[in-house]
Formats: sequence, structure tokens, C-alpha cells
Amino acid sequence: MIRARKRFGQHFLEAAWRDRVVAACTPSPEDQTVEIGPGLGAITLPLAARVGRLLAIEVDRDLASTLAARALPHVTVHTGDVLADDIDGVLAGWLAAGATPRFRVVGNLPYNVSSPILFRLARWHAAHAGFTDATVMLQAEVADRLAARPGTREYGVLTVLTALWADATRVLELPPGAFRPAPEVRSALVRLEVRRPSPAVAHPGVVDRLVRTAFTQRRKTLANGLKALGTADKVDVGRVLRAAGVDGTRRPETLHLVEFSALADAWQAATVL
Ligand code: SAM
Repeated sequence: MIRARKRFGQHFLEAAWRDRVVAACTPSPEDQTVEIGPGLGAITLPLAARVGRLLAIEVDRDLASTLAARALPHVTVHTGDVLADDIDGVLAGWLAAGATPRFRVVGNLPYNVSSPILFRLARWHAAHAGFTDATVMLQAEVADRLAARPGTREYGVLTVLTALWADATRVLELPPGAFRPAPEVRSALVRLEVRRPSPAVAHPGVVDRLVRTAFTQRRKTLANGLKALGTADKVDVGRVLRAAGVDGTRRPETLHLVEFSALADAWQAATVL
């Protein structure tokens, strides 16, 4: 009997839910699939029989070696942390051995690090034109943040920075009892469909800095919240806001991605002057 390790966010999917989750991942024999956190293999085993190749990345050495010992055809088990720096090389090496650069991602994610993993997916999107979509299990509250509309409490850094590269859709709702041990929260399976071409965002790196800075002080107006960053970048914040057509008395949670993008363009133009 395997003991679930809390520090790795282990909540194993119950057999009764397996088929529904796997079907929602829409596997096909042409797929190259990267699974984050295969655990005991609840999703890995049925997926392995339905996709072309699978790379399973598992941080827990015991679980990874148990899975690797099954020697599933077309399945590569990598023992390591998906958030570690070396993972990009592991992914690139695995992709290079395949017949196509296209790949999909699936994972019943460890909830304690789900946001950093979503930001890691954004990095994969930037580095790999072949990344098509991700189907990930999240706590329902994080799924709400991904789908949040401007002006709501849930709208924030995760919403805007994910909208830069993907459209999020909830595909399945799961109660705590769908996992063992049961988490304290409800869960949702979310499909992140990569947007190509991305919305007309010329300076995603600048959007990233502005969004993170503005939302760390979400009670402040934009003019005030961006003041320190403006001083550091030698940018006149008032002028940049006017150039972007954004009222500086607004709060960050009221801005749509296109407005953050316009702000980033004006910010970038002001820094190169
Ligand atoms: N896929 C299995 C299932 O559905 O039953 C397990 C899901 S469990 C919620 C999350 C899995 O991710 C665990 O196996 C855990 O050990 C693994 N994990 C946690 N942190 C990780 C990380 N940083 N990198 C890779 N795997 C991780």
C-alpha cells in the first residue's frame, strides 16, 4: 500500500473517474504526450495504450521507479521535478527522438505547485511551436481564476498571463471523493488550447512585468502601483498611460489583456527613447 506524500501534493485519481478523465484528454494514436506527475499511473496506463509516445515526469523516486519497472511500450519515465531547470533539456531531447515536434500535455497536477506549473507551460509555449494543448486537473478555485472576467475578485496574474498563450475551458468537474486521499477542495479538469497566432501582443515580457507589478498592489491605482517600476526603468508612468489610452486611476483588475498589451507597447517605446 502506497502512502500519499503530502509534500508532493499526492491525491490519486479513483478508478471510477479514470475513464472520464482519460476521455476528456481526447487521446489519439498520433499524439506525443507529456504527463506531469503520473503517480501510480491512473492516467498513464490507459493513455499509454491510446497515444503514440508518452513522457511521464515524476518527482517521487519510488513512484517513478515503480512505473518505470512496468516497462510500458512507448513510455519514457523521467524521475525529476517538472519545475527544475534541466527539464527543458529533457523535453527537447525526448521531442528530438520523435517524428514530429507536435506535443500535448496532461496532468492531475499537484495543487501545491499548480500555479508555477502553469507558468512553466507558458515557457514551453514560448520555446516550442509544436505545443498544441494541455489538459490539467486543478483545484476549482484555480480553474475559476483561469476563466475569470476583468473586474472580478478571481481576475489576476494567472488569468492575464495564461490568456497570453491559451484559451481555458473547463471540461470536467470532480468532487473531493474522486481522489484518494480526498483533497479539501473541489477540482476541475481544464483544457488550455494554445492560441496560434497569439493575440497581437508585441511585448509579452513587458506585459509579464507590468501585470506582476500591478497585481502585487491590486488595491492601488495603476498610476501608483507602477510608480516604483517606472522609476527603475526611467519611464514617465503618466505619459505612458496616456499614450496607451489607459486611465491611470483604474485598478489593475479592470484591464483586459489588450489594454495591458497597449500599455506594454507604450512602456517599451518609452524605455528605448
Ligand atoms: N497522476 C496521478 C493520478 O492521477 O492518480 C497522480 C496525481 S497527484 C495529484 C500529483 C503527482 O505529481 C504525484 O504523483 C506527485 O508525486 C507528482 N509531483 C508533485 N510535484 C511534482 C513536480 N514538481 N514535478 C513532477 N511531479 C510532481
